[in-house]
Amino acid sequence: MTVQIAIVGAGPSGCYLAQALGKLRDDIHIDLIDRLPVPYGLVRYGVAPDHQGTKGVVRQFARLFEKQGVGFVGNLRIGDPEHDADLTLAELREFYDVVVLATGLSADRKLGIPGEELDGIFRAGFLTRHWNDHPDEAGRIPGLGRNVVIVGNGNVAIDILRILAKTPHEFEGSDLADTHTQRLSEAGLQTIDIVGRSPADAARFDPVMIRELGKLSATRFVVEDLPPAEDGEDKRLAALRELGEAGASDADKTVTFRFGWVPERATGADGTVSEAHFHKAGGGEELVIACDTLITAIGFDDDRAMDREALLSRAVDAEAGAVEPGLYLAGWFKRGPRGTIPENRADAQELAKRIAADLEAHPPAGDRPGATAIRARFDTVTDYEGWLRIDEAETADVPDGRCRRKLTLVEDMLAAAGAKRETR
Ligand SMILES: Cc1cc2nc3c(=O)[nH]c(=O)nc-3n(C[C@H](O)[C@H](O)[C@H](O)COP(=O)(O)OP(=O)(O)OC[C@H]3O[C@@H](n4cnc5c(N)ncnc54)[C@H](O)[C@@H]3O)c2cc1C
Repeated sequence: MTVQIAIVGAGPSGCYLAQALGKLRDDIHIDLIDRLPVPYGLVRYGVAPDHQGTKGVVRQFARLFEKQGVGFVGNLRIGDPEHDADLTLAELREFYDVVVLATGLSADRKLGIPGEELDGIFRAGFLTRHWNDHPDEAGRIPGLGRNVVIVGNGNVAIDILRILAKTPHEFEGSDLADTHTQRLSEAGLQTIDIVGRSPADAARFDPVMIRELGKLSATRFVVEDLPPAEDGEDKRLAALRELGEAGASDADKTVTFRFGWVPERATGADGTVSEAHFHKAGGGEELVIACDTLITAIGFDDDRAMDREALLSRAVDAEAGAVEPGLYLAGWFKRGPRGTIPENRADAQELAKRIAADLEAHPPAGDRPGATAIRARFDTVTDYEGWLRIDEAETADVPDGRCRRKLTLVEDMLAAAGAKRETR
């Protein structure tokens, strides 16, 4: 008997879990299911287009499908029908002995300040998906201005800053589409103020991300609110100090880092943002920055397509991701929107052990149909060969200086995959 396992979400945590499960048992068949016709989640649609080295992890994940016999079922959304899902979780569980939800957390956290809905205010998830050509954002074009404030102190905030500050030639080797590069340079960006609520030594970005900024050709950096220098200080502080001392002599943009400022409100004229207001953490001092664009990069949340709260609250072991034998949660969906790609690996290994132990203790009744039942019901799903055809279409005939030209519409992906068009 083959144990049928469905992992919903073909992002890093789903892929690492399939890898770990495959090493523990050989009487299993695993399908990675994704709502998009293509695999790899935020590696494709979150990681910055100019960080192709990080995106290279997909070569490791490809071995799952090419060597380990894992199946890919794309273009199938699992969840609540009210959220446009194709199949409910209960229906999917009928087809498989084990179902793992690894669907990530894709909604942007809100700041919760007055004025947050003004025009000219954008959230990080939207922008990073937009620059990565995610089909959800096709046609939604942000009108970026010259004076930008970024609220947030994590790596995603730094990704956004770097993309805004780069000159077109600095995207060489990336997969950032020409249309994006053109719009970025037409925006005529002059200043970026990046403002964090925490003090500099508690900022959440990695020092390596700060050091990378020092290589930008047309940007000058100012770093405010640093404590006095000390021997052997935190690596983030050292990197920030170095950045403040570096900077291009022919700079046409200025980036200012500020720490310890709590966002209070955004104000504007004619419905469009014109000022961002902050107060000093733990004090009364005020800071007002004039801007025409405000970007919030303060973390991610549940998109509510699946009742995550209810799943976590009825879990027998929420920390391990075990809701009950046969149903599990993994990755960001389980533990919240924290952690890098490699950090999902250790989690996946632990969860795989838990699933294997539960399978020993509660052997499944057997003979579930798995993907055969899905394919009989939906002729619009894609498979791994379909993804390879999409990949080929995206990497053939690329513009000079680019490694890929992404298809941005689901229907174009389905056409390239040779699957039926979406009928939803
Ligand atoms: C903007 C951004 C940039 C990042 N950059 C880096 C970086 O440079 N380096 C790094 O190490 N980490 C980076 N990270 C963190 C990294 O992306 C995460 O650690 C990792 O992607 C989490 O993996 P996951 O599989 O849990 O979720 P995800 O990668 O989000 O994968 C979830 C998958 O589930 C699918 N899905 C969602 N809902 C459904 C549904 N209802 N039915 C079926 N499928 C569904 C999605 O399409 C997606 O493919 C970044 C994160 C963000 C947001």
